[in-house]
Amino acid sequence: MTISDPAAPHLVVDVDSEMREAAQAFFAMMSSTPDAVFTKSLEGTILTWNRGAERLYGYVADDVVGQHVGLLDPDPSGADVASLLRLVAGGDSVSGYETTRRRRDGTNVAVSLTVSPLFDARGGIVAAAVIGRDVSDRLALERQLAVQSTHDDITGLPNRALLADRLAQAMARSVRRSRPVAVVFVNVDRLRDVNSAHGYVVGDLVLSEVAARLQATIGKGDTLARFGADEFVVISEETGTADAKPLARGIVDALAPPMHVSGLELSITASVGIAVSPPLLSDPETTLRYAQTAMYAAKAVGRGQWRLFDASSERLWNERSDMNRDLSSALAENLLQVHYQPIVDLATGHLLGIEALVRWEHGDRGWIPPALFVPLAEHTGLIAALDEWVLLRACRDAAALRRAGLLPETAYLAVNVSARNVDDPELFTRVGVAAETTGLPLTALQLEVTETGLLADARSARRVLSALRQAGVGIALDDFGTGYSSLTYLRRLPISTLKVDREFVQHIAMRPDDLAVATAVVDLGRAVSVHTVAEGVETAEQLAILHRMGCAGGQGYFWAPALPLDDLSTLLQASEGFKAASAAPPPGRRRGRALAVTNEHGLHRIVQLHTAGASLATIAAALNAEQFHSPAGHRWHPASVARVIVDIAADARRKRSSAS
Ligand code: C2E
Ligand code: CA
Ligand code: CA
Repeated sequence: MTISDPAAPHLVVDVDSEMREAAQAFFAMMSSTPDAVFTKSLEGTILTWNRGAERLYGYVADDVVGQHVGLLDPDPSGADVASLLRLVAGGDSVSGYETTRRRRDGTNVAVSLTVSPLFDARGGIVAAAVIGRDVSDRLALERQLAVQSTHDDITGLPNRALLADRLAQAMARSVRRSRPVAVVFVNVDRLRDVNSAHGYVVGDLVLSEVAARLQATIGKGDTLARFGADEFVVISEETGTADAKPLARGIVDALAPPMHVSGLELSITASVGIAVSPPLLSDPETTLRYAQTAMYAAKAVGRGQWRLFDASSERLWNERSDMNRDLSSALAENLLQVHYQPIVDLATGHLLGIEALVRWEHGDRGWIPPALFVPLAEHTGLIAALDEWVLLRACRDAAALRRAGLLPETAYLAVNVSARNVDDPELFTRVGVAAETTGLPLTALQLEVTETGLLADARSARRVLSALRQAGVGIALDDFGTGYSSLTYLRRLPISTLKVDREFVQHIAMRPDDLAVATAVVDLGRAVSVHTVAEGVETAEQLAILHRMGCAGGQGYFWAPALPLDDLSTLLQASEGFKAASAAPPPGRRRGRALAVTNEHGLHRIVQLHTAGASLATIAAALNAEQFHSPAGHRWHPASVARVIVDIAADARRKRSSAS
């Protein structure tokens, strides 16, 4: 007997009539559905085949009707198809069964199948109907979502969530096998600057390149993951301390060659910290945190360095948290201080201004340099309160100095503003309030900002600074020359002063490169009509060179270090101006005048008292009481003590640099 159906003219199979009726009834019902529908005998012979099935599997009815359904099973044993047939023959139906089927062209397709028995009039099972649906798109999407939730978009690397999982597994294996595991924490230096200077697209390309270089460096079995915005983590199993060091060194070296991205050549470095966990000794989170702490230790030394977590890193970790706690209470309890360093006109020796520099004397640990606690405060967010406190205190002190006639009307107060606070719209209000409550005119105030601060959110920073500039506040670009600044970029900013970084002043007499940078900065300043101030001037020779190149002002130990308010007042009272370039001793003179006329015992006593933290006034009083000979032949004065200290520092530096 032959089934012949107008909708399916290809049915040419001999079947028994019960089966035929059931199959035909079902077929008529389902022939118009877009799904793939076919029927088969309980032995697996295909009976009917609709258009949807033609589309899904690629076979036309002619090809397959009468064939065994096993031709659709990619598994040559046909086990999958056979088990479905068994289920149906037993009266069960299967719905939403996801499996793979083979198409006519040999490709596989992911399908969801619903397989049901077909019954005859007496309720006996005579055939099976299969409805198939292509689910490859949905599966691909699901897979992608699964990957996305465990992988990072930009680098394609495992993300933080997957890293945690892998690390837990690695550490469990380490315990089982009694082998160490190393965790390497890689933090790309100054990625924020790259993003700000060149845009996020370039930043992302840099990250991909970093990821590729790291991947090429680490071992086959190691895991590389992206931990955070600019952070990567490597898990290296069976790596002990001895092997971890070359791994870290390899990572630092791999990043050393310049990167070529979007037509730019960029020098990218990273700070690397490693922690090695001996089996059973620590849990994943602690090991990861140790590696991160070691990374901070590396960063503290400079860019492109690596450190292994050890006892000193642990100390650093504890110190950081202790220091943050103590700084926060020191700030709340008004225990911080502000010292002031004179800024001098190189040509005339007149006072141009004073720079406020924050100081912290810790109860147990003595003086802590701002280079340590300012970055910490930036990290923890305390910096907003810190800068605001310094601003208020400095404005109050400067206003008092002006009233006392010690700070000339023309001189300004320079206050540092952290990169974190420059694009804060509140800054304008804070400055206004500080000026208003202390009576210091806005025109007597200068804010020192770094390039990083301007780059972070350039537009917002420009708005805030332009508003301040219009109100008469001076804006100095601090640490100039150390970043990515360009002339065009400088023109767009409301800058009134450029500060030549100490890095270039320090060796200006010895290193042609540094001399070139300093000259370029001064020329640049002239080109955009802003005056330049050199930092860290320590010798007459530096002063002479800077003056010759046209630098307007300077500050540094040559004149005075940053001094407490009382000492500054004394110095300003006593001095009739500072040494100018013309009055400076000729280059080559070995010893400062003050140093030459003070005997060794006196020097020793000054150093002793100074390093003990005594103020200039206290030192002067002690020297007078102990009858030490003074440079001027008169009684010791804080100003003469300051000059001696300055000379000692300069002399020590000269000795150090001629020794090296
Ligand atoms: P900076 O703004 O570049 O300050 C100049 C630094 O050079 C000061 O260090 C100053 O004491 C030091 N210095 C001045 N003349 C000489 C010299 O002739 N030789 C040498 N070797 N050093 C000299 P300090 O006070 O340790 O400050 C370091 C940095 O901390 C500052 O660099 C500034 O970036 C930051 N800082 C200081 N006070 C504040 C503050 O109130 N707020 C913020 N946000 N940052 C501050
Ligand atoms: Ca500064
Ligand atoms: Ca500086």
